[in-house]
This record gives sequence, structure tokens and C-alpha cells, in this order.
Amino acid sequence: MPEGHTIHRAARDHHRLFAGSVLAVSSPQGRFSEGAARLDERRCTGVEAFGKHLIYRFEGGDVLHVHLGLFGRIRKRRLPAPDPVGAVRVRLVGDTHLVDINGPTICEVLDPDGLSAVVARIGPDVLRADADPERAFSRIARSRTGIGRLIMNQSVMAGIGNIYRTEILWRQGIHPDTPGRDLPRAALERIWADAVHLLEIGVRRNAIVTIDDAPPGKGRYRERVNIFNKDVCPACGGAIARIELDARRAFVCPACQPAPAAAPD
Ligand SMILES: [Zn+2]
Repeated sequence: MPEGHTIHRAARDHHRLFAGSVLAVSSPQGRFSEGAARLDERRCTGVEAFGKHLIYRFEGGDVLHVHLGLFGRIRKRRLPAPDPVGAVRVRLVGDTHLVDINGPTICEVLDPDGLSAVVARIGPDVLRADADPERAFSRIARSRTGIGRLIMNQSVMAGIGNIYRTEILWRQGIHPDTPGRDLPRAALERIWADAVHLLEIGVRRNAIVTIDDAPPGKGRYRERVNIFNKDVCPACGGAIARIELDARRAFVCPACQPAPAAAPD
């Protein structure tokens, strides 16, 4: 599953390629032929991301809504157009480049009302300047669910994936099992600010980088994160514990991120 920064990076890239251009839209694989025909030969007015959802806007108000899910992938190619590789659900051809999208979970045309309904279901996106973190804070403050689950729930707060979740909570010294409602407001503000900080670095560098003073370039993955998939805490030297959160592996330093007191029966 791509984390939010990769989708935002694709949106910015595709915006640069397509905004203002009339696009040839097709479905080489055939499963999206009807939707493609509706958008074909229309001018793209912009591309943006809401969480992990990609939105291509077209003149007249219709949008192409794409969610890659676990297995979807995007390929950008220079023109002249090469043959499609694999089952290309939708091909967008601009003036200089094309984009092929294979295997998305969602690929549909929405009108403005349909788009509003989708956006309303997505939590505030840490990478969007217009995000309202209060929407996330008020849901977290009312929830007994652990903060590790809440911040990766895209309807609570959008953009954070599995690696960022582990890294942000470690950086903030918060155990992932801490119930949302037990966290002080200042802690929520720190989580939000750190998520914005780290995901913006992710978009800029096209890589997950969660240590401060990371060497430039992409470097080796292990040199760019603090505790994800590691055995020893870089802050205290203690052993990192592996835990499971919603069937995804996560990591915690029991010393730096004290477990919440057990709830009284
Ligand atoms: Zn530690």
C-alpha cells in the first residue's frame, strides 16, 4: 500500500503534465471503456490528492477518481505512446507524456456531488494546506481506540501509512495502544505537526525519511528510519518490540513509549 506521500507526489507530477491539456482517455484493458469515453478529448483542469485518493479534474466538472489499493500501480511514459503493459485500466495521454494505471481498487468518473461525497468520507489530509486538523482531533478525543489505529484510519486522518505510524508515535514518545481520549490536546497537535513535517519530506525526497539529519539522496532504507523493522532503539538502546495493529506489523520502544495504564474494570 503506497503511503500518502507517494500519491501526493504523483498528483503534483501529473498536475504538471496534464493541467490545461486536452487528454486522450482510454481503457486498453476494456473494463473502464464507458468512463474513459465520457472523459476522452476533454481538458484536464488539475490533478490533486485527498489522502490516498487521486482526483483528475476535467472541464465541465467531472472527475476521474482513482484509488490504487494494495496492488494498483502507475506508470508514466514519454510519448510516442508505447504499447500498454499488462491490464491497463485507464490510459491518460497528454501533450508529452502518458500515464497508465493498472489494477486500481477504484477507477470511476464522478460528478461534483459524487466527488463531495467521497471527500466527506476522507479525514483531513496532513499534506493538504486546506486540511482542518480539528476534524481529526475531535474524533480522536472521543475514541477509546488506540492512537496507533486511529491515525492510520483514513477516515479519521488521511495520509499516514504503516511505517509513518510507527515512526511518528516513537518520535512523540506515545504508545500506539494509548486510547485516543486519554491523549492531551497538545499530544494530538504534536502528532499532526510531525506527520505534516515528515510527509512533506517524503513528497520532496520521494522516500520515507524519519530520522533528523538524514544523509541526502534516497540512501538505504534502514538509514532513513528510527525503529521500523529494527531491533534496537536509537534513543535508549533498549529492545524494540514488534506488535500487531489491525493485522499490520508495527514497532514500539517500551521504554521511550510507555504502555498506557490498564483500564480499570
Ligand atoms: Zn527507546
